[in-house]
Amino acid sequence: MERTFVMIKPDGVQRGLVGEIIQRLEKKGFTLVGLKMMAVSRQLAEEHYAVHRERPFFQGLVEFIVSAPVVATVWEGEGVVASARKLIGATNPLTAEPGTIRGDYSISIGRNLIHGSDAIETAEREIKLWFKDEELTPWEPAQKSWLCE
Ligand code: UDP
Ligand code: MG
Repeated sequence: MERTFVMIKPDGVQRGLVGEIIQRLEKKGFTLVGLKMMAVSRQLAEEHYAVHRERPFFQGLVEFIVSAPVVATVWEGEGVVASARKLIGATNPLTAEPGTIRGDYSISIGRNLIHGSDAIETAEREIKLWFKDEELTPWEPAQKSWLCE
């Protein structure tokens, strides 16, 4: 089953949006199989954003991610990687569509509340990076037959 990694960034936690963000993914019909609040080490933040290492915003981004707790989550469902990205919205909150998380609740690219894996392979890498196998709990939602044919 397809999985994605979603992190509520420090601004999402500080602004009290953890419940709202989780609720949007839950209500859509995806299954939460991993959830933890954590202080992120510099090493983990740098590894997570390694693809952006050479970009001018990298140091500031890492500083931000380690500055306060985040909530790391793993979600399961058919098409969850691309769908979660749609629910999250465009990277720049000012161009993110209303109705998306970033579009509804943020105004600045450096404070855009949430991270979501951008492809299935990225999701696999990120889930391995953030969660031990035993921290993930697959389960069968009772409403499954009402969600999917
Ligand atoms: N970012 C930034 N300034 C930029 C571009 C990106 O601060 O000019 C931050 C922003 O928080 C973004 C993260 O770096 O969410 C990762 O960038 P990416 O292009 O991967 O966007 P995402 O996948 O999060 O939409
Ligand atoms: Mg990205």
